[in-house]
Amino acid sequence: MKFNNITLVIAMEAEAKPVIEELNLTEDTSYCPDMPMRGWTGQFNEIQLSLVINGKDPDTNLDLIGTQAATLATDYAIRQYHPQLLINLGTAGAFGENGSEIGDVYLSRDYVVFHDRRVPIPGWDKQSIGFFEVLDTTELALKEGFKSGIVSTSNSLDMPPIDEKNIRALGGEVKEMEAAAVGWVARLHDIPMFCVKAVTDLVDSGIPTEEEFRQNLNLATGNLKGAIVKVLNYLAD
Ligand code: SAH
Repeated sequence: MKFNNITLVIAMEAEAKPVIEELNLTEDTSYCPDMPMRGWTGQFNEIQLSLVINGKDPDTNLDLIGTQAATLATDYAIRQYHPQLLINLGTAGAFGENGSEIGDVYLSRDYVVFHDRRVPIPGWDKQSIGFFEVLDTTELALKEGFKSGIVSTSNSLDMPPIDEKNIRALGGEVKEMEAAAVGWVARLHDIPMFCVKAVTDLVDSGIPTEEEFRQNLNLATGNLKGAIVKVLNYLAD
């Protein structure tokens, strides 16, 4: 696997900051000057790197999260940087019952899906869920000791029973809010993608997700920073 031009797509600034510092990236103000999204560029060995985040919502002044912002950030990034590969990095929830632990780093496996799009009409059911294929990273996961799982996306942090049922039916192991949107845009542009997700919360712990998320964000983003260096070293080889 050799890629010379890679874009990292990250939702929140807090998730991106350690990665930007670790990779020594410089802000590129020509990316999306009229929109909240922000971009950085740099070099990792032979790889031309870019990193984009959703930026701040002008109304709440909080980081934009979820699928619309990820869709725009990804599409603008592809048009600006012409990557050969997209990597969606971020934090996520996972299931303790699957053996997941806070801080675990997962690579995506098979495909990314939407678990909150319920359209029981043949054809549109599949389109709504997405099933966007991800790059096969089995060897990388084995080599570096990452877990791997099906990443499942919705626009909600909570997990009502209907979402839980759908996640289980889809075999989802990693729950977050952007991956399938990035996967969709990648599919439209025919660019390979995969995800690197660090676990901030266990969705079956009984503890409110937002509490666990805040408590473990630093640990998870630190692990994400370590993971991306391993991933890029592997891809540069
Ligand atoms: N900023 C808020 C929380 C945002 S959490 C706060 O400080 O409380 C939502 C972000 O984290 C999303 O970008 C999503 O991709 C990720 N995330 C982490 N755990 C998640 C979970 N259990 N369900 C959905 N998204 C999760």
